[in-house]
Amino acid sequence: MQSVTIVRSSKRKSVGIQILPDASVKVTIPLLYPKFFVSKILKEKEEWIMAAQQRMLAQKEQKIAKGHYLYLGQTYPLQLRSGQKDLVEISDKLYVASMNEKFVKTYLVSWYKQQARKIIVARVNHYAKIAGLSFRSISITTAETRWGSCSSNKTLNFNWKLVMAPIEVIDYVVTHELAHLTELNHSKAFWETVRRMYPLYREHRTWLKRYGHTLSF
Ligand SMILES: [Zn+2]
Repeated sequence: MQSVTIVRSSKRKSVGIQILPDASVKVTIPLLYPKFFVSKILKEKEEWIMAAQQRMLAQKEQKIAKGHYLYLGQTYPLQLRSGQKDLVEISDKLYVASMNEKFVKTYLVSWYKQQARKIIVARVNHYAKIAGLSFRSISITTAETRWGSCSSNKTLNFNWKLVMAPIEVIDYVVTHELAHLTELNHSKAFWETVRRMYPLYREHRTWLKRYGHTLSF
């Protein structure tokens, strides 16, 4: 049984049990009622309480399961659920282990950033090795206006929202920023460097220009 709150009330003549929207139990007892009787009553009513709690949670899950989220170019419906170890899990749906809508966005953003780091670091290492390029570090940013950047000290920056795009688009941004390690401008030589790493870059560059605005929530 989840948390139980006991409240005394001068208006009550008998014990009242109420299941609150968060599935916690509220017991209201008469002013002079001995508290130690409460656990006995709760034990007797255990089955009823558990059924009522489950109904309450199911109702809530249904009510607040809404919205669709992009991940690696695919759309997943959001499903809130209770009692899971992993905060966010993706399979057929994007599951968030929270019944409190307030926290859902926070959990999701931190999960997206984690995934972005994992995937982007792997892609950068892959292409850097092929092209024989070295960089200082990779950072995942929340920049609103750019997908990636490469600073003069060879730090590569990538926007976490990229992880919503198809992997081919991520690869385009990765190779674009890697190319800046040798060419700091967008000259012909720069695009030639991108093309050598990623011959299909044009198509995915166009995708990002056209659909980049959809990579957000
Ligand atoms: Zn650039």
